[in-house]
Amino acid sequence: MNSLKRFAPYYGLLAPYKVTFFAAIFCGLLYAVASGLGFPYVVKENIPIIFANDSDFSTEQRDAANAIIDQAPINEDPDILIERVAAGTGLKNKTAEVLINKKHIDYRPKTKDDSVLFKTLLLLPLTILIRAFAGFFNVYLTAYCGVKVLEQVRGQVFSKLQDLPVSYFQNQNKGDLISRLMVDCNLVKQCIVEVSNSLIREPFTFLAALSWLVWLSVTRQENLFLLFCLAAVPACILPIRYIGKKLTRRAKQLQAQSGTVTEVASENLGAVREVRAFSLEDSEREKFGSAVSKFLKYQLGVVKYDKSLSPIIELITGMALTGAIYVAASSQLNLRVDEVISLFLALHMCYQPIKKMGAINNTLKRGIASLDRIEEVLHAPILVEEKPNAKPLPAPVQGQLRFENVSFQYDADHEQPVLRGIDCTLEPGNTYALVGPSGAGKSTFINLVMRFYDPTAGSILLDGHDLRDLKLKDLRHQIALVPQDPILFNDTIMANILLSRPDATKEEVLLAAQQANAREFIDNEPDGFDTLVGDRGTRLSGGQKQRIAIARAFLRNSPLLILDEASSALDSESESLVQAELNTLMQGKTVLMIAHRFATLKLADEILVFEEGRISARGDHASLMDSSPIYRKLYEKQEL
Ligand code: ATP
Repeated sequence: MNSLKRFAPYYGLLAPYKVTFFAAIFCGLLYAVASGLGFPYVVKENIPIIFANDSDFSTEQRDAANAIIDQAPINEDPDILIERVAAGTGLKNKTAEVLINKKHIDYRPKTKDDSVLFKTLLLLPLTILIRAFAGFFNVYLTAYCGVKVLEQVRGQVFSKLQDLPVSYFQNQNKGDLISRLMVDCNLVKQCIVEVSNSLIREPFTFLAALSWLVWLSVTRQENLFLLFCLAAVPACILPIRYIGKKLTRRAKQLQAQSGTVTEVASENLGAVREVRAFSLEDSEREKFGSAVSKFLKYQLGVVKYDKSLSPIIELITGMALTGAIYVAASSQLNLRVDEVISLFLALHMCYQPIKKMGAINNTLKRGIASLDRIEEVLHAPILVEEKPNAKPLPAPVQGQLRFENVSFQYDADHEQPVLRGIDCTLEPGNTYALVGPSGAGKSTFINLVMRFYDPTAGSILLDGHDLRDLKLKDLRHQIALVPQDPILFNDTIMANILLSRPDATKEEVLLAAQQANAREFIDNEPDGFDTLVGDRGTRLSGGQKQRIAIARAFLRNSPLLILDEASSALDSESESLVQAELNTLMQGKTVLMIAHRFATLKLADEILVFEEGRISARGDHASLMDSSPIYRKLYEKQEL
């Protein structure tokens, strides 16, 4: 039950569906009563009809016969007993024999009234019908609630993934996150809905059957011995606990490995060209094969423990039943067949829920392993968080950026900060080219402006406002980003351009595409702007993708523009056309441009030279050639 407490905070998810859930529970209870109480009762009522319908003795004759049989010496010759019973009751020898053999059967006088027979017989299909309908609606309504809960759990995890900072994903395995979203959310849903339902239904079935057992035992003391069979119940607890413990560990391993398999597969499918180009097919097969075989090993471990519980419980309860049959057979108890069968059925109905509770315990253990994995995401700190009192950015935005003694470190393990003591002002309307050797910190500088990360020390101000005090959306709306390798969504060209400003009109999108020199290729596509670009835009060339990214920037028309060598994927003719358009786009904006080619530098008003996390020099090309040895070296080697 402690395990169930782990899920307590999530029961609120059921609140909107409480009526359906309670209806499911009610059906479950009906099912429990029909199974645990209804069946044994119906059997008890039906059996005498089957066995006693041809009897031709009265109640008095039966009681007189029973009295003679009860007082008979244990080893009396059966033939002599038959004679004595026949003589004492006035019955024929054959009938006396029937009475001796079936002494325990309740006498039901042969009735001419078929309606009694009919009514008794009808109890069986009626119980089956109630049980079947209640069982169906219990499962169906529970599944309905389950789907709704799953939708919410998955929604919560996905929503959290949207809020987590970029840094979170750099330390995570993508396949593992997908597995948490799909597999783990499903298991947690099972625990919240299906297990909760079973935890009410199964004990109730147990209690219903138990109350029938107690009733039969109290009304006829001879049946009391069967209650000893219930001693098997605590004996089942031990394997349930032991297997549950084993299963928790295996389940965690299995879920983690499921993430690894997804990761290997998604990485492979995302790098089809690289795999072919570097002839990695065989090593990829091996990598996938070994991930899958490890997964199967853990899965077998889980199956082993999960499925071994049921036979163990069956063995224990079977032994208890055998014990009961032995006691019944060897004792001189005055047992009746209808009650014994009914008792055994009730015992079976007691054991069934125990078996199911064992299975539920296993599901709970697996669910907890999944919940741990989901909560790792749900409780992950949002390092770049919007303050509760974050303020909107006052309009109009000028686009002045000020770095005040900014230092930054990706993680504490990094010995040296990636950016150190950056102190500079970038004036509105100017274009700044960021140059420097690889790893000098240019992309990190841009990442801080986008607030993908917050500085470890110092602050960054936009128009005099600390970025950390602003609403995140407000800040990012002021920035248009054209990355070196733009990512497109698997949607139409129109939708892909529109995402930079979803409220733009169609004409504005067409104009933006025109400005980015993308109209020609779009118009040549069979479906024009409605052409689907494929997964991550694979149906388009690198240059076409970049033009769409530039069209997005034209459409957004924000005061800050970040270009990561935006025209690098274009051919020289397109590049010169786009350069002209970029010049228009850059007018009046603060532009940060990571330059990878010297040709691009002529667009810049000022060049910032990055060196080991610092801006070691700034100025125009001519002055830097004089003053900055690193810039001169880069220029000579044509390496930016
Ligand atoms: P390039 O011109 O090659 O793109 P850059 O000047 O843009 O290089 P950055 O990408 O800013 O350099 O990287 C600066 C340093 O920070 C490098 O040493 C890099 O290894 C490190 N770094 C970059 N991203 C991360 C990260 N997510 N986690 C840890 N370290 C990182």
